[in-house]
Amino acid sequence: MFKRNSENTEQSWRSKYYNSLGELEKKEQEWGSLEAVMRTAVSRLSVMLEGADRDLDKELEYLRHGIRRGADGKKIKAILNSVLVTIEQVEKEHEKKKKLTTPVVYTLLLDTIPFPKGMARNIKALKKSISRLDANNNLDEVVQEFSELIRSSFYVIKSNAEEKAAEKNKKELKAVKGKHSETEIATEDESDVSGRTILEFLLNQLSLPDDCHTGIKIIRDQLHVVHLEQELNRIAIEIANVLNDALADGDSIEQVDEPVNNEAGMDVNEVLLQLLERIELPAEANEEMASIQLHLENEVSEGEWPALLERISKLIRSMREKVQQEKNNLELFLAQLTDQLQTLDNFIRGVEQDHHESIGKGIKLTENMNEHIQHMGKSVDEASGLGQLKDAIKSRLTMITKHMGEFRDHEQGRDIRAQKKISELNDQIRGMENDSKKLREKIMEERELASIDPLTEIKNRLAYDERIEQDYARWKRYHSSLSLMVIDIDRFKNINDSYGHMAGDKVLHTVAQHLQKNIRETDFLARYGGEEFVIIMPDTPVNDGLGVAEKLREEIENCGFHYRDEPVNVTISCGVAEFRNDHTPVQVFEKADGAMYSAKESGRNRCLSA
Ligand code: GH3
Ligand code: MG
Ligand code: MG
Repeated sequence: MFKRNSENTEQSWRSKYYNSLGELEKKEQEWGSLEAVMRTAVSRLSVMLEGADRDLDKELEYLRHGIRRGADGKKIKAILNSVLVTIEQVEKEHEKKKKLTTPVVYTLLLDTIPFPKGMARNIKALKKSISRLDANNNLDEVVQEFSELIRSSFYVIKSNAEEKAAEKNKKELKAVKGKHSETEIATEDESDVSGRTILEFLLNQLSLPDDCHTGIKIIRDQLHVVHLEQELNRIAIEIANVLNDALADGDSIEQVDEPVNNEAGMDVNEVLLQLLERIELPAEANEEMASIQLHLENEVSEGEWPALLERISKLIRSMREKVQQEKNNLELFLAQLTDQLQTLDNFIRGVEQDHHESIGKGIKLTENMNEHIQHMGKSVDEASGLGQLKDAIKSRLTMITKHMGEFRDHEQGRDIRAQKKISELNDQIRGMENDSKKLREKIMEERELASIDPLTEIKNRLAYDERIEQDYARWKRYHSSLSLMVIDIDRFKNINDSYGHMAGDKVLHTVAQHLQKNIRETDFLARYGGEEFVIIMPDTPVNDGLGVAEKLREEIENCGFHYRDEPVNVTISCGVAEFRNDHTPVQVFEKADGAMYSAKESGRNRCLSA
């Protein structure tokens, strides 16, 4: 029974032992797979944590190494504890840094730098990029964008100055005017800047690795010969490609020492240093720039930041003001140059209108000027700076002014002599004109006198001869009617004989005056000789002329002439003839005279037509 009991007990223990052995084995298996999961999890978590901190990275690597080599739980626990301590430190450090992170510094900088007008859009875009910094790890892009913005702010000023200087070539450049994308260089006067100028400026501003130079040179050569906007766009794309290549190389070189892709792994000092390195300032800024960079390379306490940022913005501001000043000087200089060349041009124009000697001298002067201007062009090509260029052009202008002065003095002397001579000649001519006028008046007077018969105070035979030629010519031209009347005082010899010559003269005067008063203004009366008169009657046919003659005959017959209270009988006989066919004045006069004699023959105190 005992034996059976002890047998039973032994069996029970054995089965218990085996059972527990199986359980243990099962548990061991379970623990083993759990440990494998844990090791994998820790290894993966350590990979995820990597890059946050350099010390932490070393510990994580050590942890993974331990897990791979199958270190025991005790060792791994020790490493994990150390990792936890480091993580805690990193978190504390990170918390501390949060107060002045890269985005904060960038925003501060953006607000402190006095950017020129017209860049608000670019600044806004950059702020947006900065605000996205944490999420996208695009730090490099932001640094690039920031440095581009500052370059652009210089460009806004420089391009204005360059534009003025290029005023002369503006027409040519207009053909290749470039329109630029808003994000690149948005300035208020961008429409006036040629694409060629922008691209050239961009090329000049870039500092690229040596192996890019060949590519850039080819682009630069192409820039000098393009004339189309599409061509410029193509070149812009080429530049962008070269830049991308260059930047990609540069980044990979930097990353050899230390990876900077991660925002959390790069501190504010380094970000600022990178930014400052990419901004190209004039040489004068080098000293201050180096001092700021030195400051940044060392530890910067939080209190020092505002002053340091102020120094950076002041540096940029002062450089901008310097560029502005240079621009003003250049503008002033160009304005003066333009004025002088304008004066020169005006003078040469004036000179060219002058006489031969002057033109000869003017041409020589122009040749001189061309030579000087060519030299100026050469100086522009060769000058390495604005100051040297100004000196070279100033000395040329002094030479030009000297030549101009000599030429002007010579011309002025000549001009004064010529003016004096002209003035003398003018006086002479004026005197001659006066004399000739007087002479003419005297001649006219004498002529008038010569045409008047002094006894009867009517026109004489000479005047008749002149006048009949004029009326005859007019008649021939217009073929209107023209008649002549010949008048002779009847028995005038008797009057002379009866009352004396004085009475005869008086009768002649009285008859002449009566005739003059009773004819038309357009008729012409003259004493033909002795007691004979002639009247030219334009626009008068022979019958009308006869009517006039009859009226005159009656007038004289009834004039009631008295001499010494004694009535004197005075009558006239008239003959009228009209110009017809190709009759000459003499022929017509003879016809009228013949008619007058016929009237005498038929009893006197009569009028007859030819
Ligand atoms: P008839 O009717 O045929 O014409 O007769 P008549 O006497 O008028 O003609 P005649 O030719 O015979 O005489 C003209 C005279 O007129 C002669 C001359 O002395 C006179 N006589 C000519 N001229 C002048 C003058 O100027 N003054 C004066 N008083 N008489 C003059
Ligand atoms: Mg007579
Ligand atoms: Mg008579």
